Amino acid sequence: MSIDLQRLVRPNVRTLKPYQSARDTIQSGVLLDANENPFPVLKDGIELNRYPDPNQARLRQALADYTGLEPSNILAGAGSDEVLDWIFKVFLQPGQDLAAILEPTYGMYQVQADIMGVGTVALPLHGDDFSFSSPQFLKDVPEDAKVAFLCSPNNPTGNLLEADEILKLCRDWGKIVVLDEAYVEFAEKPSMASWVSQHPNLVILRTLSKAFGRAAIRLGYALASPPVIEYFRKVKAPYNLNALAQRQGVLALEDGPQRLAEILSERRRLRQALHEIPAVKRIFPSQCNFLLFRVAGASRLCLKLLERGVVVRDRSSMLGLADTIRVSIGRPQENDLFLKEFRRLVAPQESPLRQSAPDGRTT
Ligand code: PMP
Repeated sequence: MSIDLQRLVRPNVRTLKPYQSARDTIQSGVLLDANENPFPVLKDGIELNRYPDPNQARLRQALADYTGLEPSNILAGAGSDEVLDWIFKVFLQPGQDLAAILEPTYGMYQVQADIMGVGTVALPLHGDDFSFSSPQFLKDVPEDAKVAFLCSPNNPTGNLLEADEILKLCRDWGKIVVLDEAYVEFAEKPSMASWVSQHPNLVILRTLSKAFGRAAIRLGYALASPPVIEYFRKVKAPYNLNALAQRQGVLALEDGPQRLAEILSERRRLRQALHEIPAVKRIFPSQCNFLLFRVAGASRLCLKLLERGVVVRDRSSMLGLADTIRVSIGRPQENDLFLKEFRRLVAPQESPLRQSAPDGRTT
């Protein structure tokens, strides 16, 4: 199916004349055009008195080198949460279009829709492996839906969605397919980034918050066809990414993902340890830096863990996830502490009889 991208863009954005910022084209010379303070405030070689590069040129080149795409396929925001904001602004008309969300998944898609006044339709992932089927989606999705939000590997279920199904959707649906790959560096399968050159309706979300260990700098990015990136440029705030974050982003990409092997080995160890606890009913396969598991009384257990200073996420209220806890993979000592406190909470109470049966039997 051919994609008429223009038709998918909100009419006001199609005709929008974006703000022309002082640093759009000219970044050197005698800069008397932006009402900046002319006296240098230097920190780590960055002139903090100047506005940052609105085109993110160095950062986008570094992201291009990392992803194998072109800078024209890339735009960075203050976390991938900002990229979500652009997606809504460009494609989803409040009170008219719908966002289709494949549930259970990351809560920000719904929150962003609520902020923008855009209606949503929740379509369930399938079976107990939370898989995605494009034909099923096409059967269930209402006509008014214009953007689908898929997350692979998915938070909080941890599984990858089938790449072929996602590509089928891009090919057969004719609307916008958002694929959130926040956790892809932890997965066994590669990113689907290279497909954006063949599918102008595919928008991939990535972030430096997870594998690169840079959650604090707030840097996420969109990978998409150049026309989609151009629409994002139109709606983003001119200087959306501060100079420190842009510089730190380039350095992060030079450093590469942080302690990936260690995190994956801790994921295996934590999984095995949970497996040996009888109260744990199911540990969901994970391609992420967390584990989701099922245990009776999950909500109460989360509160008890919190009292003991261990903070995990109760996911029990999500579609199909009754009695589940999501635990991030921490450092080895943190994982040990979690396991110790969790075991204490779920171990059967020793009964006094057991300890003191007169004939020495244990009961
Ligand atoms: N996508 C998913 C699936 C996430 O789980 C998260 C954070 N928990 C994000 C995006 C947000 O990433 P960022 O820090 O880049 O805003």
